[in-house]
Amino acid sequence: MIHDGTQALVVDPGEAAPVLRVLQEHRLKLTTILVTHRHADHVGGLHDLESVLTGPVYGPASLTPHGVDQVVHDGDAIPFLNLVFQVFETPGHTQEHLSYFCDTSATENNLTPILFCGDTLFSVGCGRFFDGHPEWMLNTLNRLARLPDQTKICSAHEYTLSNLAFAKAVEPGNSAREDYESLCHERRSRQEPTLPTTLSIERKVNPFLRLNEPEIIASVKQQGFPITDPLSVLTALRAWKNAF
Ligand SMILES: [Zn+2]
Repeated sequence: MIHDGTQALVVDPGEAAPVLRVLQEHRLKLTTILVTHRHADHVGGLHDLESVLTGPVYGPASLTPHGVDQVVHDGDAIPFLNLVFQVFETPGHTQEHLSYFCDTSATENNLTPILFCGDTLFSVGCGRFFDGHPEWMLNTLNRLARLPDQTKICSAHEYTLSNLAFAKAVEPGNSAREDYESLCHERRSRQEPTLPTTLSIERKVNPFLRLNEPEIIASVKQQGFPITDPLSVLTALRAWKNAF
């Protein structure tokens, strides 16, 4: 949730109750909802938020039956307060998946840019390919990797520790991952989230953004996957992770 003390924006309300509780606690008006994709843990709360929502539900065209009433496409801009969210079509986890990027560095407060990427990119991982096309995910990850270094990555799930265990198997010699692993274990032991992460961290530790790294290529080859290019590395990594 993003708010200014009066108006609130929510991304992917899988459940209504926690959103309603925060709205009530802080006396906020829910004016905007952004939706990334069709899975129930991202849209499950939409129906129960209808009665308090005073503005649009933005999302992909295929989600109008789920409650999306403002269909958006790649390149569209969504205003909220003094911010503007750019819509990116980011297929890979699912075909209709959207991400929302807010280049807050352009505002007068010069804040950090934020990306809401649903189940596309996680800390040290990426989403499963539900709709089946690794090429889509490769293009999507390449696109997200071109965002500014300091971009805050707001992923939808806290999978970091299990992703780190996989990354260790894939790239055992990565010392940046070791440092990040210690930090994440500390945070989780204090019941704190590891998210949001940043793109600069992910470039150093996330195997799905490091498809040209020789150690990663060697590891997937060792697992018996035929490797010819970054697409085959991505496909192999995902298949390996699915069985990990
Ligand atoms: Zn999902």
